[in-house]
Amino acid sequence: MGFKLGSKSMNELVGVHPDLVAVTRRAIELTVQDFAVHDGIRTLAEQKRLVASGASQTLDSRHITGHAVDLVPVVNGKLRWEWDPIYMIADAVRIAAKELGIPLRWGGAWDVKFTDSEDSPEDLVQDYGARRRQAGKKAFIDGPHFELPKEKYPA
Ligand SMILES: [Zn+2]
Repeated sequence: MGFKLGSKSMNELVGVHPDLVAVTRRAIELTVQDFAVHDGIRTLAEQKRLVASGASQTLDSRHITGHAVDLVPVVNGKLRWEWDPIYMIADAVRIAAKELGIPLRWGGAWDVKFTDSEDSPEDLVQDYGARRRQAGKKAFIDGPHFELPKEKYPA
């Protein structure tokens, strides 16, 4: 589609694992929905603030080690945390990751091997929410978040 990562996005990718950078760069070429890298690497202090504000749930974030990115839709020049464009980005990210042979975990359905899944991102989110409800747990869903799995990429 001809989208490109802007300079802010490129800055956010500094320090991020090269495999995740490669997926992000390929995804921006494939996506029908423009996005920005809102968060790449984070310091522990930043992560503590996010947990305190409720925006994140863990101090053990993959952002701290450079194994996670948040890809947020850009609509009319503005960042938008909206599901329809988030699903389109997730589609492009999955295609890019499969093409490059890089496994990814997605914040829309944490317990699924995202790059092995075939279901639409929308279905994955709904099924994940249903599984959590059934288990009597809250679903913390973070659609813009993609990370390299710990099993293959230990910190
Ligand atoms: Zn994230």
